Amino acid sequence: MLSRPRTMIARPKIARTARGFATLLLAAAVAVSASVNAVAQGVPVVRDAEIEALVRDYARPIFKAAGLANDGIDIVLVNDQSFNAFVTGRRLFINTGALVAAETPNEIIGVIAHEAGHIAGGHQQKLRDQLDRAKTMAIIATLLGAGAMVAGATTNSRGLAGAGMGVAAGGGEMAQRSILAYQRGEEITADRSAITYLNATGQSGMGMLKTFGRFQSALSLSGTQLDPYRISHPMPQERIANLEALVKASPYVDNVDPPTLQQRHDMMRIKIAAYMQGQAAVSRLMRKNPTSLASRYGDAQQTYLYGNPGAALTKTAALIKEQPKNPYFQELRGDILMKVNKPKDAADAYAKAVSLDPARSGLLMVSLGQALMAVGTPDSVKKAVTQLNNGIGRDKENAEAYRYLAQAYGELGQIPAADLATAEGHFYSADYKNAKIFAMRAQQKLKRGEPGWLRAQDIINYTPSNKLK
Ligand SMILES: [Zn+2]
Repeated sequence: MLSRPRTMIARPKIARTARGFATLLLAAAVAVSASVNAVAQGVPVVRDAEIEALVRDYARPIFKAAGLANDGIDIVLVNDQSFNAFVTGRRLFINTGALVAAETPNEIIGVIAHEAGHIAGGHQQKLRDQLDRAKTMAIIATLLGAGAMVAGATTNSRGLAGAGMGVAAGGGEMAQRSILAYQRGEEITADRSAITYLNATGQSGMGMLKTFGRFQSALSLSGTQLDPYRISHPMPQERIANLEALVKASPYVDNVDPPTLQQRHDMMRIKIAAYMQGQAAVSRLMRKNPTSLASRYGDAQQTYLYGNPGAALTKTAALIKEQPKNPYFQELRGDILMKVNKPKDAADAYAKAVSLDPARSGLLMVSLGQALMAVGTPDSVKKAVTQLNNGIGRDKENAEAYRYLAQAYGELGQIPAADLATAEGHFYSADYKNAKIFAMRAQQKLKRGEPGWLRAQDIINYTPSNKLK
């Protein structure tokens, strides 16, 4: 969605109220249907090919060292400025606030290593299994509900207490009871495991120590910012001291992230700042090194977002000249060209992005599909259908992509396929009522038993469970 700037600029209303996903023991008891409605007003998930690929690259070696599934990890970026991260098994949820707060990849990698330690230790396994079966939107809703409840329970009346919205109704007692998500022993185990994984991959634990140490000191202040991560992961002084000893005993303590990885990290931070936080945040990040590639990337992005598409194109062309194989520079070029209504050129840029992208992100394919639709010839709309289906193939829950696909099928006169795609779009937005209406409409024109008909039947038969049980 960072790749879809117009939705990104319209900052989700929920950003202020969603306090992230803490104290996950709560989640099992949270009524999902209520939360989904609250979240549906402004989806707090952001999508971005570049950031998802980078976080996946952080996680992959750690997961491998931990003996966890190391392929097909879905990265879910939660649009929230607080710090949080959670792994269900095949999905890694991380707040954009955590990514911006981290000055190095190592800080995030350390947190992922700690989370992998919780998984390997079987901590909160039952909840994790429940969450892994649930759809991403339902989890987000549940996690946000849980976070909001915790916020309400721990800050008494001021500020965040109102953040629970309707979701927290009746949940206060539950929040009180399970406020400590992980037990102290589990934290020590997870820290030890994290060091094992970092050692196995030749990485330092200093980033993890820095992050956790920051929480530790922040806890002693009466901060108004409530990081859900800090609540679910208790960090008494002795834990930090033990961790420090482990980190410093490692032969890899002085290892730093490879420069190319650090550069990608810097570009990610400035991108989040540009799209989510505004120009002041970009300037702050640029100040350190105004001529770095990351700074010039941030400059090109904010020129595009807030200023002058022509100048942004020039700045992006300079970036492409410097890194011709960077798919995300091509993507930015495509975004700018879409904004100035040059869909044919945009399609060329997105096509380059797709061909250069080692992660084969479905998002870039969907962008290409949209540009081809905007070109508007029958031939390009047909190509758009192919690209949109490719994108959905990589990314089954992309509700927005189904809506474009429905439009493309509609333009081609393929009405049953359009209705089914509309049904899918509603389905993955958790609007089951409209999903069923369109699935039934599609079925009327489809042959009984064919794949589309069967998929429509699945949607018609789907019963959202009220609880994650
Ligand atoms: Zn922990």
